[in-house]
Amino acid sequence: MHWSGGELVRTFDVAIIGGGINGCGIARDAAGRGLSVFLCEQADLASGTSSASTKLIHGGLRYLEYYEFRLVREALQEREVLWRAAPHIVSPLRFVLPHHKGLRPAWLLRLGLFLYDHLGGRKLLPATRSLNLRTDAAGAPLKAGDFTKAFEYSDCWVDDARLVVLNAVDAARRGADIRTRTRAVAAERRNGAWSLTTEHVDSGEREEIAAKTLVNAAGPWVARTLSDVAKVETKAGIRLVQGSHIVVPKLFDHDRCYIFQNTDGRIVFAIPYEQDFTLIGTTDQDYQGELGNIRASAEEIAYLCSVANGYFAKQITPKDVVWTYSGVRPLYDDGASAAQAATRDYVLAVDAEDDQPALLSVFGGKITTYRRLAEHALEKLSPFLGAHASQNRGWTGREPLPGGEFPVDHVAAQIDQLINRYPFLARAHAARLVRMYGTRSKDMLGAAQSAADLGRDFGATLTEAEIDYLMREEWAETSADVLWRRSKLGLRLSVEQAAAVDAAMAARRRNAAPRPGSMSALA
Ligand SMILES: Cc1cc2nc3c(=O)[nH]c(=O)nc-3n(C[C@H](O)[C@H](O)[C@H](O)COP(=O)(O)OP(=O)(O)OC[C@H]3O[C@@H](n4cnc5c(N)ncnc54)[C@H](O)[C@@H]3O)c2cc1C
Repeated sequence: MHWSGGELVRTFDVAIIGGGINGCGIARDAAGRGLSVFLCEQADLASGTSSASTKLIHGGLRYLEYYEFRLVREALQEREVLWRAAPHIVSPLRFVLPHHKGLRPAWLLRLGLFLYDHLGGRKLLPATRSLNLRTDAAGAPLKAGDFTKAFEYSDCWVDDARLVVLNAVDAARRGADIRTRTRAVAAERRNGAWSLTTEHVDSGEREEIAAKTLVNAAGPWVARTLSDVAKVETKAGIRLVQGSHIVVPKLFDHDRCYIFQNTDGRIVFAIPYEQDFTLIGTTDQDYQGELGNIRASAEEIAYLCSVANGYFAKQITPKDVVWTYSGVRPLYDDGASAAQAATRDYVLAVDAEDDQPALLSVFGGKITTYRRLAEHALEKLSPFLGAHASQNRGWTGREPLPGGEFPVDHVAAQIDQLINRYPFLARAHAARLVRMYGTRSKDMLGAAQSAADLGRDFGATLTEAEIDYLMREEWAETSADVLWRRSKLGLRLSVEQAAAVDAAMAARRRNAAPRPGSMSALA
């Protein structure tokens, strides 16, 4: 701490701009190494790209075509690490890749999958196998006669927005100061440290903190943050590539996912989603628009319907679409011509000339590799942070995320235990809670003896007790935070029900202790 302009300014080891997966992943790792951490997010956690992904923890089969072996290997290894760390929000998923007569030959698919099976230290996930689509249930929803052969391989699925929040929760438990709805507006090097000025987006309240190192994990805003906030010039370029998804009522009954090849060389996934739906995506196109409000265009929706219609017997139109979401990949610009060919690997750029305090900017990166990216980021920052930064290296690969303190094959046992403890819960409700909170479900339900003890039910089993918990423990402030990021209950609530959630949250906010919105202030 020091005085600046008559104000007491707190000093941190690491200040992070951006509460997406990369910012929160770095915050967690740094806090667990004993470093003091400050993180500001201008909106809600995961409100940027990190809630708009396809939600796969995958090596990226198609990146093999671009010879991205380093990335694929690291990503493949992370699948089981993250599954073990968070078995409530990560689950294994089998992918069905139909052989398409006019597209990639079977030998090429087989070779790719052989590499995929062997590059990444697979221990728990089952290996690739061939399928006869005439007899396997995966063939039934597809166009009869067109697809007879497929390959089936393993990757994992993750609730992306919850992964971000759980990293933030763990970082906060380990002492990090996490500020949501708090924008970084200026950063300058002063007296051998970074001076960072933030502004609360609702109250306009400004605050200054100091930090030995600054991390720019602003995702699609990374270049803007460098030029407008830190006023630093950089040679590294960012390529914004939009990707959209559509959600339709479910097109098939089994629990496997399809990976469809398209004639334009792209691939599209059709994934079982939230029990009653199918998630289809994604597109890949350069993006030049506003970053605050990215939406799926009519062309993208039509494109995704048409790819699905090339494979599924049941034909869909844009009228079947119940929800869309869209995000931009903040890719490192490697000069590739096609958006789909731009590298998915990450680049960490450090600006620290003449012994100045360091600024590290994150370009690119995947949900899948966020944990390794955080380790690499701290390695790069360690010369500026002293011995602390190197302590406890690799700990995030060993410690579960909050709620994930159980073996990967015990999800059903967790649900049974929760019902034993709270017999008034319907199984579907208990299953939803275990999938969201894992072992933290009991913290949320507390001493409840009956459904009435959970307070008002806003629809789809969302209760007052759960909203309170999300506001208290997970920085939720609006209905969108609860219905579209902490959960996907937005798919099930009517507009009126969502408005009731908003009104209840606004009332609770009015009664809550004054901000600034750190978790401790809400507790
Ligand atoms: C369509 C699509 C599909 C994808 N699918 C997958 C997938 O299946 N698997 C996978 O591993 N990866 C996938 N990805 C990639 C992955 O989602 C991204 O690489 C990752 O989410 C990027 O995270 P981030 O933290 O860098 O950025 P973001 O999540 O965008 O976070 C940056 C944050 O910084 C905040 N911010 C910006 N400026 C400021 C400021 N001045 N002050 C405070 N806060 C600020 C923003 O509000 C934002 O929340 C996909 C990406 C897209 C677009």
